[in-house]
Amino acid sequence: MLVLIKLCSILILLIGVQSNPDRRKNYSQLKSCDIGPLAEEIASYESVVKNIINYVVNGPFKGKTYDELSKFVDTFGARPSGSQILEDSIDYMIQLTKDEDINDIVTEELEVPHWMRGKEEITMIEPRIKNIDLLGLGQSVSTPSEGITAEVIVVNNFEELAEIPNEVVEGKIVLYDPIFTTYRETVVYRSQGAVRAAEKGAVASLVRSIAPFSINSPHTGSQNYNNNVKKIPTAAISIEDADLMRRLFNRGQKIILNITMTSTSETKTSRNTLIDLKGTLNPEKLVIVSGHIDSWDVGQGAMDDGGGLFVSWAVPVILKQLNMKPKRTIRSIFWTAEELGLIGAYAYEEKHRNESHNINFIMESDEGTFAPRGLAVGGSQKARCIIAEILKLFESINASTLVEEDSPGSDISVLIKTGIPGASLHNANEKYFWFHHTEGDTMNVESPEELDLCAAFWTAVAYIIADISADIPR
Ligand SMILES: [Zn+2]
Repeated sequence: MLVLIKLCSILILLIGVQSNPDRRKNYSQLKSCDIGPLAEEIASYESVVKNIINYVVNGPFKGKTYDELSKFVDTFGARPSGSQILEDSIDYMIQLTKDEDINDIVTEELEVPHWMRGKEEITMIEPRIKNIDLLGLGQSVSTPSEGITAEVIVVNNFEELAEIPNEVVEGKIVLYDPIFTTYRETVVYRSQGAVRAAEKGAVASLVRSIAPFSINSPHTGSQNYNNNVKKIPTAAISIEDADLMRRLFNRGQKIILNITMTSTSETKTSRNTLIDLKGTLNPEKLVIVSGHIDSWDVGQGAMDDGGGLFVSWAVPVILKQLNMKPKRTIRSIFWTAEELGLIGAYAYEEKHRNESHNINFIMESDEGTFAPRGLAVGGSQKARCIIAEILKLFESINASTLVEEDSPGSDISVLIKTGIPGASLHNANEKYFWFHHTEGDTMNVESPEELDLCAAFWTAVAYIIADISADIPR
């Protein structure tokens, strides 16, 4: 388990959630993308795409994804790893699927962490009394009951911290104040900040929330202790309070905080959920669509990852309603315990390792379900060429962009790194990190029209990949 958590931590560092615009490609313009007669075959799916889009965007399925997501979110709210609410929400999704007359449903049990925050309070004592809003980071240890009272050192990055002598850091609170560039670049101060500060003798660490925008909202998230380094309490504070402390620090004013945090941590059992729409010709071959059903304890988990969960739930449901059966099996997976380190995905990879050659393509939506723009694709050039050809069919909804991504998605990156080609939903998620891991992750972030477009796009792409004559090459 510890090795696993360590692996997860390394992986989390490698996961990029924001796409780099320079890597956006339209492969149809590249000569190296000659896929031969397959191009013509893919083009013949034009009417299939039209039918699915019509059915979901203007027809009987219109608004259904949003309606079901809102019922789900309003019923359960936040669904933290290891909680009873999460298990109840899994049962609900199984029943919701059975209500659609889809009964090929399997759950797979695994052990997951159950970390629960208790009291969390920071008071700035010097240079003036002020309440500092915070959210403890995942797995953070508690402070002593009287809290930790210490002086603050503000640093921009690890290099700056390394240059400060250990005796200056000892006994202090380190505040990381990195300005948000991309999630991938900045999140390391959240995930590794406590360990790096503790190595220098700090008694606690804080991080400026990993976000480009704020209304004084702290953003939580996972972080990874190292068993060889003292575990110190660690939390995120708002961008506004980080800026305040940065200004005070730059003026040479002494900042003293009292941090009081409590939490509990135990291990529980949860489940991955697998829903199959069996293929007609090659049922053993899989095209996987997925999202994670767990969420952080703050907010409602509507955006992260309720939207991804429901567009993936919608795929077999829409195809069943349209009586469309692809040649390969489409499997919809609801991952559990993503937020505390892709725990469900690691368990699935291990359990299904000797049949992994049957996974033809794997998709995940975990970066927002705003208007779809295309796919961020990991895999070989040949694989990307075929996907690019399929994406051409989505010009009418402006979703034809292919982004090259070595490690797309969150959970699915665990499988993609073993050589399975896959993709993450590329969408107009410029505001995703405004809400990410905050109390602001509510239904108000979601749009019925955009969810319809995502569900239609997700369904049609999965259907075509599952139905064409060629496998996606590795
Ligand atoms: Zn997520």
